[in-house]
Parts: sequence; C-alpha cells; structure tokens
Amino acid sequence: MGKIPEEFLKSLSSRMEEGEKVLFYASADRDDSGFCDICLAFTGKSLWMAVGPKVDKKVFRGFVNRLHLPEIPESHDYEKYTYSVVSNSEVERLEVINLVSGGQLTRVSGGQSFAMCSFTNAKAKDVGTFVMLFNRMKENGELTEEDLADSGKNEFCPKCGMLYPDPNHPVCPRCLKKGAVMMRVLKMAAPYKWMMIAVYALTIGAALLSLLIPTVEGEILYDETLTPGGKFYGQIVFIVLLIVLCRFLLLAMNVASNMVNVSFSAKLVYRLKTTVFKAMQRLSLSFFMNKQTGTLMTRINSDASGVHYFLVDGLTYIVTNVVIVIGATVIMLIKDWQLMLLCYIPILVIVFYLKKKFKVLGKFNWRRFLRRSTLNSAISDSVRGTRVIKAFGREKNEVERFGKINSNFRDIETAFNKQISTIFPINALVINAGGIIIWAFGGAQILGGVIQFGTLMTFINYINMIYGPMASLSDFVNWWANCMTSAQRIFEIVDAPTDVVEPETPKDKDVMQGNISLKNVSFGYDINKYVLRHITLDIKAGSMVGIVGHSGAGKSTLVNLISRFYDVNEGSIEIDGINVKDYSFEYLRKNIGIVSQDVYVFMGSVAENIAYAKPGCSREEILNAAKIANAHDFIEKLPDGYDTVIGPGGHDLSGGEKQRLSIARAVLHNPRILILDEATASLDTETERMIQEGLEALIDGRTTIAIAHRLSTLRNADYIVVVDNGEIVEQGKHMELLQSKGEYFRQVQKQTEALKVAGV
Ligand code: ADP
Repeated sequence: MGKIPEEFLKSLSSRMEEGEKVLFYASADRDDSGFCDICLAFTGKSLWMAVGPKVDKKVFRGFVNRLHLPEIPESHDYEKYTYSVVSNSEVERLEVINLVSGGQLTRVSGGQSFAMCSFTNAKAKDVGTFVMLFNRMKENGELTEEDLADSGKNEFCPKCGMLYPDPNHPVCPRCLKKGAVMMRVLKMAAPYKWMMIAVYALTIGAALLSLLIPTVEGEILYDETLTPGGKFYGQIVFIVLLIVLCRFLLLAMNVASNMVNVSFSAKLVYRLKTTVFKAMQRLSLSFFMNKQTGTLMTRINSDASGVHYFLVDGLTYIVTNVVIVIGATVIMLIKDWQLMLLCYIPILVIVFYLKKKFKVLGKFNWRRFLRRSTLNSAISDSVRGTRVIKAFGREKNEVERFGKINSNFRDIETAFNKQISTIFPINALVINAGGIIIWAFGGAQILGGVIQFGTLMTFINYINMIYGPMASLSDFVNWWANCMTSAQRIFEIVDAPTDVVEPETPKDKDVMQGNISLKNVSFGYDINKYVLRHITLDIKAGSMVGIVGHSGAGKSTLVNLISRFYDVNEGSIEIDGINVKDYSFEYLRKNIGIVSQDVYVFMGSVAENIAYAKPGCSREEILNAAKIANAHDFIEKLPDGYDTVIGPGGHDLSGGEKQRLSIARAVLHNPRILILDEATASLDTETERMIQEGLEALIDGRTTIAIAHRLSTLRNADYIVVVDNGEIVEQGKHMELLQSKGEYFRQVQKQTEALKVAGV
C-alpha cells in the first residue's frame, strides 16, 4: 500500500482520540460525482474517510514509460477535506464491487451495504489490499506478519522500506546480499569443481610466479649481476635464461588456466541457462502473465552471459590481484618498510575515493538494467504488435514512444559513462603522484647509500603491480555489481514459488472417466477482483456441455481452472470425485485436451507440429488425425506436404488451417476431457462446416466442454450453461432455455438477427 501522507496524518490526528493510531491506509480517487482525492485509514477503533475537493479533469496518460513519468508534485490541503468516521464495531466487513474501469468500496453494516467511495483501476490494488487487511483483521482480531507481507508485496523492500525500482521484480539493490548470491553461483559450479580447482590453482600459481619476476629483473639483475661484487656478477647469460624461464612458465600457466576456464565457464553458463529455462517450465501461467516477454528474454540470455563473463574474467582477475597485492606488500614490507608505507598513501586516497563513487555507480547500474529491459520490451512489443500499430496508424506514436524510452536509456548510459570516465583519470593522477613520491624518496635513499638502484627498480615494479589493479578496480566493481544483479535475477526465477503446486502423492487413477464437478468455485486473477463467483456445476462423463456468455464473462477462466492452469480461490473442482489438486500434472495433461482459438505453431514441419501431442507416434497416426480434423487436404497441397516447415520464419498458415492442425493434435492426444475454447470462431462458415464433422468424431464418447461463439454450434450439446459477469445465470438444454426466454434466448435471437443482416 502507499505511504500515508504526513500532512494527512497530522490532520487526522487532531480528529482522532488520544492513543489512536493508523494501522493501515489507502487512497481512492472517485466519489459519486467525479474525481477527487480520497484517503482511507483504519485505526483499529474506527474507519476514517477523508474526501478532498473535486478535481476538474483527470488526464489518462495512455501508454507511457512508467519509470519516467514526470514527477507531478501533489499538494493537498487536508484540513479542507470532509472527514467521516464509522466505528469499527458497526462495520461487519468491507467489499469491493467491480465496475468497468475500477470499482466501488462498500461497507456492510447490519446486513446492508453502504457505498463509501469509488476508485479507478490505478487505485484498485491499493483499495483491494485495504479491504483484505480490514477483513482479515475482522476475522482474526489481529493482523499477522503474513497479512502485512501480503499487503506490501511487490512494492517496498520490507527491510529498508525503499520502493522497489521495478514492482514486478521485488529485489532491493540496497539490501541485496551480494556475497550470498556469489556463494550460490559457486554452488552451481559444484559439478565442475575439479575444473574450477584447476583454474584457481593455476591462477594462484601464475600470480605467485609473477611476484618473483620483479626481484629477478630488478635486484638480481642490477645489483647482483651487473654491479661488481654482486653474487652473480658477470653471469649475464644465466640470469637472462632465468628471466626467460620465468616468463615462459608464467605464459604456460596463464594459457593452461585460460584453456580450462573457457570450458569450465561454458559448462557453467550452460547449466545456468538450463536451470532458468527449467524453472520457467515449472512456473505457473500467472508468472508469465505478469512479465513482459522482453524482460524474460533478457533474463535467460544476458543474465546468464553476465554471470559467465564475470566468472571467466572477473573472478580470476580478482584472485590474481589479491595474491599479487598481498604478496607484493609483504615483500616490500620486508625490503623497506618506510618506502612501502609511502606507497600506500595514494592507495588509501584511491580506496576512499572509489568507495564513494561505487555507491553512485551501483545505483546508475541498476537503472541501466531497468531501462535496457524497458527498451528491449518496447522493441519486442512493437514487433509483435505491428499489425495493431499499422491498423490504427500509430506508427508515429510508436516512434515517439520508442524515442522517449531510447533517450531515457541514452541519458542513463551517458550519466553512467561520465562517472566511469572521471574515475579513470583521477585514479591515474593519484597513481602518478604516488610514483613521483617514490622516485623522489627512493632516489634520495640511493644517493644516501641506503639502498641500491636495483632495489628501487624492484620496488617500482611491485608498486606498479599493486597500482595496476587499483586503477581498474572500478571496472571490477562494476562487473561484480552487474554479475550479482544478473545472478539474483536468475535465482529469482529459480526460487519463484509456483502458485499451482503438484501434490506429493498424486491420486491418479488408471482410467479417467471424465465426471467433472465444480463446487461453489470462486476465482480472481487478482486477490481483490473476482472473475468467477460461486460456480456450481456438474458435468457427466461423456456428455457435451456448452458454455455461453458475453466476451469477458469468465468462460475461458472457467475452463482454465478445470485444466488447473490456475487454482481456485474458494470452493473445489473434482474430476471423478477427486480434487484436481490431488492429481499429478501429467495425469491431468494426458487426460484433458484443449483446442483453443489461439493456436501455437512452433518452428518445424507440419507432421512434427501435429505429433507435438504424442511424441513418437507413427506417420499413419498423424495422417489419420489430420484426416479426421479435415486438415489432410490442405496439408497435401502445401509445397512439401507433411514435411513443409511452418511456424516463425516458415510457411504461413491461415487461421482456419492452424485451427485444423490444432484439432488434429487433439485427435492424436485422445484425451478423456476435451475443451473447445471458441475452437471454430476464426473459421468461415464453409470451413466451419467442413471441420464440424471432424469435431463431432472427436467429441464422440468424451466429456466435452465447448465455449462457442456461434450458438448454432451448440445445438447438439446435452447441456448449456450461460455465464454472465462471473456467475452462472442460466442452465439447461437448448430447447428448455429457448422456451424459458431468458439470457440464452436473447443471445440466440441477437445472433439470428445478425446473421440475417449478413445474409447468411
Ligand atoms: P471470456 O472467455 O468469457 O471472454 P475470460 O475468462 O477470458 O472471459 O476473462 C474473464 C475476465 O478475466 C476478463 O475481465 C479478463 O480481462 C480477465 N482476465 C482473463 N485472463 C486474465 C489474466 N491472465 N490476468 C488477469 N485478468 C485476466
């Protein structure tokens, strides 16, 4: 729920009794006569409502990028609001009545409903949560943590209270435990642990070896070999060979480590992608309905790649540098502690400076991701919606909309890169200054005879080894942040709870009869908006039931519940006397077949597309199914017959042809319960007649639930159910319903008239 405005709280406090405190709050935006700001607050003792002055005009902004709406400062004079209060004991419960573009909040007192205020869809969630909390409080006398968690879901971080940057993605950048995420990533690498150990052993080995080189190339070369009196004075060939050997060994170790790393990380990224993809298959339909496809695509691909690059380059880079920084520091400390302390002055400056910068960078980075996802979604939405865009001549608006999103992305990229480009030169400046200090101090020591030239050279090489990683630390932190947010998003999918859960011990039977029984079923996609209410219906095995109703009445939702794509909120659905929740998914999918209006054709041959319903079936079975579905003739006429490649990028099929393919699939699937969801809606009368026979052959002997657009197709139904606004308003046989002259009769009449006008 939204945050309670402080001014409102002040104004309300002066009206409340002493000690009374607001427990939860919501805002609505309409009353009977028009738009206005309304505040609702519940204190445990009473229910308050404050209604603000009328707003002349409410502007609907249409489709804009939510992230970048200009901030409109709102100022309300809450003292001028009209306050009303009802005592808690007078209210039995709160209810929401769904209206076309919003709803009405009512309170039930003494068995009667009283309208309180209304709201648009923008406030539906807010008011719905308020109602849910109020009713739970009434039922249980108090609110549990679970209730409060439900109410804050997807809006604020429960830890720090920050609004999530993306409500569909409840991850708080501030509270993300990056270390824990990293551990999880590494745990995913467990099957390849030997490869990983080899990579890091070689990396550490190479780092230790590289720590030897400055001493060999500095002190040993200058002071011991080239200076008279040195231990190896004159043995230049031996020293050069030693240097070549060290360099060669280092190279070999690096190459070996890279080779192993390449295949290790490829395996890991493969595992990551498979895990995400598997997790997605496990998730319920509702998960996908809430996400934009663009965002999901970004997740599988670029998030896994983000993690991949970090593991290949980032992690080995940090291991190498940690070893080098610690090793070089220890060596320098032993050689000349004063000089070493001097080296650390610029390092401390850099660390302090970077720490500040990284905070800013982290925020920018998060926004970059969000805006990139929005950009991807905009592109993919526009590609998928091309037909609609062209039909409404909205190309210009789309370009404008894209322009805005694109410029938002450009702005954040520019801001981010500006930050990065200041960090780099400043680092370099500090490091150079450090170098100069050391030359000056070290030079003085040489002149004073404290150290030799070779020692100073050795020192300078070690310092460069430490400063090098410091200069690119910014890249590393950036990388690390990217990788951890990517990994977190991956785990978010992996961890996402499935709304529809498979039972641990399914009660599957050998053969499904197909008796379906819905008992007082209520369901809503959102907790506060029921789409189906108190549906009770019995469908006998082998019978055909037609479901009729206006568009949006809830017909498809009803059949989705029977197939258990979603779970009912109240009541139960039984098949053969057992709750659908007690069957395995496999059993349900095997026995329930759906032919719907939108047919998914994937890239592959016609035969493969039909065989999707029964992998491993014979060619004869496919042909037979196609014949029953009346699809055989058109398939034969395709360029390569059953082997013609269809789907994205392949041969295009008409709506009717796709429909017949889907019927052929259902024939092959051979389910006990068949659901026809407007199966013939997209066909012309001639085609419809052609496949009607096929459908009848398919229906024969199965429990069939047919949602039909054309009522004439339901003439053979044993039973017809009329759904309106989520409720069953009428049921009976075709003739009975016609005679009772109710809703069904009216709809049949309307269609007959429409057909007459059309001259059919
Ligand atoms: P019908 O099949 O009778 O045309 P539906 O069952 O498809 O109706 O839809 C009933 C109501 O549920 C409509 O108001 C629709 O907007 C809503 N609805 C359908 N699918 C979803 C969904 N996935 N998420 C939220 N609301 C949905």
